[in-house]
Amino acid sequence: MRILVQKFGGTSLSSEKAREHVVRHIKRELDQNYKLVVVVSAMGRKGDPYATDTLLDLVAQNGNAIPPRERDLLLCCGEIISAATLCSILQHELISSTVLTGAQAGFLTDDHYGNARILNVDPSRIIRELEYNDVVIVTGFQGQTEKGDFTTLGRGGSDTSATALGAALHAEMVDIYTDVEGVLTADPRIVEDAKPLAYVSYTEISNMAHQGAKVIHPRAVEIAMQSQIPVRVRSTFTESEGTLITQPEGFKDVQTGIIDRFVTGVAYVSNVTQITVESQDGEDHHLQLKVFKAMAENDISVDFINVTPTGAVYTVFDSDSEKAISILQQLGFKPKSLSGCAKVSVIGGGINGVPGIMAKIVEALTEQDIQILQSADSNTTIWVLVKKEDMVQALRALHAKFELHR
Ligand code: ASP
Ligand code: MG
Repeated sequence: MRILVQKFGGTSLSSEKAREHVVRHIKRELDQNYKLVVVVSAMGRKGDPYATDTLLDLVAQNGNAIPPRERDLLLCCGEIISAATLCSILQHELISSTVLTGAQAGFLTDDHYGNARILNVDPSRIIRELEYNDVVIVTGFQGQTEKGDFTTLGRGGSDTSATALGAALHAEMVDIYTDVEGVLTADPRIVEDAKPLAYVSYTEISNMAHQGAKVIHPRAVEIAMQSQIPVRVRSTFTESEGTLITQPEGFKDVQTGIIDRFVTGVAYVSNVTQITVESQDGEDHHLQLKVFKAMAENDISVDFINVTPTGAVYTVFDSDSEKAISILQQLGFKPKSLSGCAKVSVIGGGINGVPGIMAKIVEALTEQDIQILQSADSNTTIWVLVKKEDMVQALRALHAKFELHR
């Protein structure tokens, strides 16, 4: 059995016109003799009748007085409505199909409601249903606990449902259909000449997803990477093949074995605060331990961490900054903070060991008079912290300097 997983996001299912495109992609792949597992998100965006955010609004009016377990039950309705609607369209087109909820599709999760982790996927029911149906539609974003309670996988979690099913079913490919042409070199709302990439590696896309590119959920990428399932991110509204996500070996030049690019894209995370803590007498050996333990105990996520012999510099989300500062003050420190910063990243699987990448970054930013507040690097990413008002210019300058529009 040749199995293909297709995932359609909210905007791909939001209108009758959009759903016609969905049917077109389904028919095309059925013609290629695939059996299809189609994962759906709730239809539309905030304000649309059955979108996830709209369902959340129903209880927001009551001061969100709903227990997490019941909240997940409510959220599961969006995907169920979407799946049943698609089933009726396919039946009308004489395509045999059936709908399975997350639980019926075999998703066992922990009971961390609202952000449950998948413990196991047992695809046996799907495989049985595929013997009688050409298409099995699965409600994305959901699973069930051992006790049989509904859970959801965290916002944007249908991508994760799709790659987890791809792995469990040993599918040939997972196609993530969305409203953009694939993975772009930058956010097109900021960098006008951002261009779709034909391929990216798992590591690159994982960095991009963690660094703010919203095109695919980072957890979905992790699962695909672990099981080496190729993923394509593509548009519902065109026939373009989009971006293939695979191992770098998949896109090396066959003759030379060389990947022909160093930098793949730029991304950003805005609204972070830089916090600097210095020991007053230069001699507090336990400063770092005290600082990071306090952040951890108070559930504050820290990032961009630089530790020096006499202090520590790091970032937190702006929304956590007041709390972080007051905790540090209670410990007797005099922290300095700079809110409204943005983390700009330059990502590329080919930058490791290549001289001159940092020099180019500094050159691009200096030419624009942009101050670098902090920097860090890994083998696939270089991050710079800038003031938020410099972010747009920084992204454009870096995109141009690395000629990513080519
Ligand atoms: N409908 C869910 C959400 O809006 C899951 C998803 O779309 O992936 O977060
Ligand atoms: Mg989504």
